[in-house]
Amino acid sequence: VTDKIMPQPATVPCQYRTGKTLGSGTYAIVKEAVQIKTGKYYACKVINKKLMEGREYMVRNEIAVLKRVSKGYPNIVTLHDYFETAHNLYLVFDLCTGGELFDRICAKGNYYEADAADLIRTIFKAVKYIHECGIVHRDLKPENLLFRTKKEDADIMIADFGLSRMMEEEKLQMLTEICGTPGYMAPEIFKKTGHGKPVDVWAMGVITYFLLCGYTPFDRDTQQQEMEAIIAGDYKFEPEEYWENVTDTAKDFVRTCLTIDPTKRPTAEEMLNHKWLADTQPHYVEDK
Ligand code: ADP
Ligand code: MG
Repeated sequence: VTDKIMPQPATVPCQYRTGKTLGSGTYAIVKEAVQIKTGKYYACKVINKKLMEGREYMVRNEIAVLKRVSKGYPNIVTLHDYFETAHNLYLVFDLCTGGELFDRICAKGNYYEADAADLIRTIFKAVKYIHECGIVHRDLKPENLLFRTKKEDADIMIADFGLSRMMEEEKLQMLTEICGTPGYMAPEIFKKTGHGKPVDVWAMGVITYFLLCGYTPFDRDTQQQEMEAIIAGDYKFEPEEYWENVTDTAKDFVRTCLTIDPTKRPTAEEMLNHKWLADTQPHYVEDK
């Protein structure tokens, strides 16, 4: 529907020289890219059009979403430039050199609670902003949360709006297409009863759990079992040795995000007022 991409001459990609691969997903490879005239480094998401036959709308949607929201908030990866060739689509983002939250969690084992609260507060504020723009991210997970620099206290950035949709308020509960990554997906997605903004709050609960202990709550042997566990809300703060130093307030925060009924699940704004985030002072100023 949104076919607003202007056809660009094939010489445009020559403005950038691509380098090492930073990451890859289902439809895209992300490479480091230098803008030749400025020498500045970016992250270039290269999407092969052939791989996504019939799904071009997903990408055009991603561009529209990113254009709309990325420049307006400090913790969202900014879309700097984009162009198309016959075979590929190129999205040029500001480069985040600090890697994925996923890798930091794996390296640390888990986060200290106060550090976890700082990160979750910053991400939730960005999620609140996205929701205020009428957008649901729908694929929040540690692989899509990047650090701007390698510094320990680097800004955390939300990336990868590939599965999000621009949506109007009244349509929020009507979208029933299955998408996302099983471990972070909300029960209502499997039940096909709609998935609006509450799916992002659920995913934040799973991410918080992961930050606090180093593993995900619904991890099971098969995808079927994982899905059943999610629908039943079947998870525990176990084994004890991983949770004995975690406060009840933090556990209550996770439990509240993981409210099975999406109509009873608090909003991003409400979660920001939860005692766990409201009581701990941020260690550094994260936004304006
Ligand atoms: P996909 O839709 O394929 O998951 P993503 O946008 O999530 O694509 O990018 C895939 C991976 O590439 C990310 O998980 C991350 O490791 C890396 N990446 C994406 N954007 C950037 C960026 N702006 N800076 C640095 N690395 C990035
Ligand atoms: Mg991704």
